[in-house]
Amino acid sequence: MSQHFASDNYAGVCPEALKWLIEANQSGHEPSYGDDQWTQRVCDAIRALFKTDCDVFYVFNGTAANSLALASLCQSYQSVICHEVAHIETDECGAPEFFSNGSKLLATQGENGKLTPAAIETLITRRSDIHYPRPQVVSITQSTEVGTVYQVDEIRAIAEMAHHHGLTVHMDGARFANAVATLGVDPADVTWRAGVDVLCFGGTKNGLPVGEAVVFFKRELARDFAYRVKQAGQLASKMRFISAPWIGLLENDVWLKNASHANAMARRLHDALVKIPQAKIMFPCESNAVFVTLPQAAVDRLRADNWRFYQFIGAGGCRFMCSWDTEPAMVDKLAAAIAEACTA
Ligand SMILES: *Cc1c(COP(=O)(O)O)cnc(C)c1O
Repeated sequence: MSQHFASDNYAGVCPEALKWLIEANQSGHEPSYGDDQWTQRVCDAIRALFKTDCDVFYVFNGTAANSLALASLCQSYQSVICHEVAHIETDECGAPEFFSNGSKLLATQGENGKLTPAAIETLITRRSDIHYPRPQVVSITQSTEVGTVYQVDEIRAIAEMAHHHGLTVHMDGARFANAVATLGVDPADVTWRAGVDVLCFGGTKNGLPVGEAVVFFKRELARDFAYRVKQAGQLASKMRFISAPWIGLLENDVWLKNASHANAMARRLHDALVKIPQAKIMFPCESNAVFVTLPQAAVDRLRADNWRFYQFIGAGGCRFMCSWDTEPAMVDKLAAAIAEACTA
């Protein structure tokens, strides 16, 4: 079986998710647009997971989840503070601005892909005049685009700063599972208990065929969200086929098992690459990604040998991404290929 390291969305569907996709197909006819038993069951499972009475919605992908969530959090004349390498800033083709009718993203810097309360406050307090797009949301990515993870106290400090100034907190959790697996914390502690108001909970990169959950911990913010989802063309009529596979992820903590495995494979690759003098690791390896700079000749050689990896993510460099099913032998093969390409 061929495996690649370009993205965790190269992987297929994990067996547990697939099982519930098939189960949902065998339950006969079901009400559409989310009124089915499977969707209700998964909403309850997510509420149980987070130990709170949150509102849950399902959309097809992360770009829609982020864009619609952000649009529901601010007016068109307000702005969203994010990191300069945030997916919403660099990889969503302007969808957050489009769906919010023009809310501006205010990008700032921070070490290892993470925002800091100080950088956020600078943007909030820089100006208060009518010509400035007033910040209304802080968006953080967990785990980040460069594979690092916010600690619980870092999130709490950001949320305190945001709330102090009347802003809300959005979390892009396309790889939320990988972060929770690393932190080993209760999912509630790293979200609403730390001040996160809305979470885009990624399923696709964790082993689903398709679909992300948008979780509103501050439920009043979810008012009319269902209409946004519909208007954006993100309301699945046979919603059970997006929702039911989540049962497979949530049951027996498969989502954490999948994420832990992906993280362990990245760690394995990282530990092999640190031994190669020409390979410079760019960021702490805290989830399922390894970013490394390699000599151009090595990059060319790897590409010629059909290794796939991205070079446009985050701060550049080569990104190697591990998935729920990445095989250790494949990691070792890649590490050996990189070592060879560096010395050739
Ligand atoms: C993959 C990803 C998304 C979602 O991307 P889609 O391709 O729209 O599903 C969002 N945020 C981050 C950080 C991602 O890595």
